[in-house]
Amino acid sequence: KEEYLRKPEWLKIKLNTNENYTGLKKMMREKNLHTVCEEAKCPNIHECWAVRRTATFMILGDVCTRACRFCAVKTGLPTELDLQEPERVADSVALMNLKHAVVTAVARDDLKDGGAAVFAETVRAIRRKSPFTTIEVLPSDMGGVYENLKMLMDARPDILNHNIETVERLTPRVRARAKYKRSLEFLKRAKEMQPDIPTKSSLMIGLGETKEEIIAVMDDLRAHDVDIMTIGQYLQPSKKHLKVLKYYSPEEFQELKDIAMSKGFSHCEAGPLVRSSYHADEQVNAASKQ
Ligand code: SF4
Ligand code: SF4
Repeated sequence: KEEYLRKPEWLKIKLNTNENYTGLKKMMREKNLHTVCEEAKCPNIHECWAVRRTATFMILGDVCTRACRFCAVKTGLPTELDLQEPERVADSVALMNLKHAVVTAVARDDLKDGGAAVFAETVRAIRRKSPFTTIEVLPSDMGGVYENLKMLMDARPDILNHNIETVERLTPRVRARAKYKRSLEFLKRAKEMQPDIPTKSSLMIGLGETKEEIIAVMDDLRAHDVDIMTIGQYLQPSKKHLKVLKYYSPEEFQELKDIAMSKGFSHCEAGPLVRSSYHADEQVNAASKQ
């Protein structure tokens, strides 16, 4: 029988589902939209949707051409491209009265532009309908094709986020179709294209990395001009996914945050329940005060 680590107390939290949240879920279904908040069963959903007014939309469908071993999104060949999706996302952002909208996408390695045109149009549509909402984009590496990244950066999001996810040694096991150095290069290029737009990257820990390897990621991100870093605990979405090898304590997260801040990030969010988009509304301000 396989052995699993026991979940520590600080990760046992109840999902808070009040009426406000149920209504929003219904709207998402009616508009045929997908959110990471729901798909990943994110424990922060109540705080984000109802209190902080943040949500993470997943565009370009709900089927991904890649199969990263930590991720709960379905793998397969996606269906056609939905050109009305940008307007529907923008309508929802307006209806939810979001302060901060995060837009991510499945990796569309089947499309020539990696989905960049629809991604960029989503940013513009949100901007048109909700000019006071800050917009964070969280693309895959778009196959490392920088014209695609340029299309997205030209739409002028408020934050460009691209997740490094894990330390260099574990990258081939954790996200086989991605490359550690390509992700760093992607972040650097984004900064060169629009130097005033803050860049951000997230690391999940608990997959067998060492502290030295975590610190090496911080140094690599800073060497590629990344402004914001988030560090969270990896949680296994199902038995088919990679096992959790360590649960870090809140104190260990605090120590990592202090180390990150000493490296010169403008903002670092680190904690057991921290997700890439957690408290993202605060990060826009922190980055713009630099
Ligand atoms: Fe959604 Fe991110 Fe908040 Fe989780 S942390 S509920 S994914 S916005
Ligand atoms: Fe999940 Fe993104 Fe990997 Fe696709 S590319 S499997 S959505 S983490």
